[in-house]
Amino acid sequence: MKKVDTVVIGSGISGLTVSALIATKGHSVTLLEAAKKPGGSIRRFYRKGFPFDTGFHYTGGLGEKGVLRALWNYLDITSLLEIIPFPDNACDELFIEPKNINFKVRFSYELFENELIKSFPQNKQGIKKYIRLIKDICDQIPFFNFDLPLSNPSDLYNRSLTSSLLDTIKTLNIDNKTLTTILSYPIFFYGVPPKKASLLAHSMVTNTFLSGTFWIKNGGQGIINAFTKRLKELDVEIKTDHCVNKIHIKNHKIYAVESKDEIIYTKNVVYTGHPSLLLNLIPQEIFRPAYITRLKELENTPSMFIVFAIAEQEYISPYKWRNCFLLNENIELFSFQDSNLEQSSLMLTALGLRDGHKNKNTFCLLRPFLFSKVEGIKDVNLKLCQNKSIYKSQQYYDWKKRVTLDILKTIEEKWDIPQNKVEVLETASPITFWEEILSPEGATYGISHNIYQFAPTARTKIPGLWLSGQSTLMPGIVGASLSALMTAGEICGGLSNFWEEIKLCL
Ligand SMILES: Cc1cc2nc3c(=O)[nH]c(=O)nc-3n(C[C@H](O)[C@H](O)[C@H](O)COP(=O)(O)OP(=O)(O)OC[C@H]3O[C@@H](n4cnc5c(N)ncnc54)[C@H](O)[C@@H]3O)c2cc1C
Repeated sequence: MKKVDTVVIGSGISGLTVSALIATKGHSVTLLEAAKKPGGSIRRFYRKGFPFDTGFHYTGGLGEKGVLRALWNYLDITSLLEIIPFPDNACDELFIEPKNINFKVRFSYELFENELIKSFPQNKQGIKKYIRLIKDICDQIPFFNFDLPLSNPSDLYNRSLTSSLLDTIKTLNIDNKTLTTILSYPIFFYGVPPKKASLLAHSMVTNTFLSGTFWIKNGGQGIINAFTKRLKELDVEIKTDHCVNKIHIKNHKIYAVESKDEIIYTKNVVYTGHPSLLLNLIPQEIFRPAYITRLKELENTPSMFIVFAIAEQEYISPYKWRNCFLLNENIELFSFQDSNLEQSSLMLTALGLRDGHKNKNTFCLLRPFLFSKVEGIKDVNLKLCQNKSIYKSQQYYDWKKRVTLDILKTIEEKWDIPQNKVEVLETASPITFWEEILSPEGATYGISHNIYQFAPTARTKIPGLWLSGQSTLMPGIVGASLSALMTAGEICGGLSNFWEEIKLCL
């Protein structure tokens, strides 16, 4: 009979982090993962021997005063990683249609502000106020300003405290559509349209990458490898191919977790998957009806369609430290009001070169996509722990080819990468995300962190049942890691037990 202090469900970055944190405080931990390999969204996969990353292209938070750097130092992870800062000339390059405006976002507050003022001198005051606002908001958050006392970090879960990004931009007297598109583009990293995006969430994400941007050798797999090594040292057992199908509860107390044909006895469970799927694991009467309805009705972020490809180095080398974004200032990103594929946005990111690969090089093309626009599927009720249960007809595969061709046509027209020089090795649709990381509707970033919806917090009404992951605090490597820190704090008697020690690790 296996017995541990805590079972963590899901081995994405939040599951790995929460396991490491509570194990350092002496908990015996078992980490259960449904997939065959650990890592969740940041897992790397290979096609024809070429490595591809899905959920990690770059991150902030690793600079001198970065919260991720402090956390990873505390967990003895940093020394196991090769962290590569983006060079000074690196940028996100935005191509804004229909006026064909090209704008380079440098990963520094100062350079971003200067470039904005140079391009939009008539909006100088509004731009300065916008930048000040983002900085001021983050200066009041202990995770970004280590001098602050840890007041009430749970306020961070509450998005409704702030106004929407779009309303805020309007109050700064910015009515220029191109400028609004540039200021809003970081929503690409959390998937909420500007009219719903919370200024608080937007500020945290924008601040993270304007404070410096980083690549990690071997991408997400580099992070997973470092964590699995450290977790082994901490005696945390990771069991993959173990989809949890039941959390046993008696007298309102947790006593076991069931996966496959194994039962592990425990009093604490951390669930890092999508909150709505938690309802499949517990007896429904355990939660109040209002909480059940809330979890069931959580609005998700949109999904993505991704093309994973290789091309000769000469076509890809300009993009080594430059991510390209195609945006349309007349279409609000992530609002999906327009159904024309050609008018959707697109991101190009070339990761192989960052890892030092020679000759042929890998790159990804990411297009935000709605699950409801997928063609040729049936029986879309994902049965938990029965992966790949969605029926896909020939129409689905034909549709995937069509979308892929459209994306390739776009990069030939916009970024001069000839279609016949590109070899597509894999594609991922919203269905892929649904099946691979158990994300309902293939939601890229879990639930939508917007001003109209409360995110579930770490604490549930059931003693010993905790939530963590991108759907609680924030998405992204930084957001999901901080969610893990918040949850570990709840489990181990208060966040300050970790935070005071973490702060000293820079
Ligand atoms: C296309 C894409 C691009 C991205 N790009 C970036 C980027 O460049 N930079 C960045 O910082 N962030 C990026 N992100 C976001 C980032 O990857 C995620 O926010 C983060 O990895 C989420 O981590 P998580 O642990 O919360 O969830 P996940 O990684 O989704 O992990 C949850 C895990 O739980 C498992 N699970 C669920 N239910 C069960 C169950 N019943 N039993 C067992 N296991 C279960 C799932 O299989 C999964 O492995 C990107 C995401 C995507 C999808």
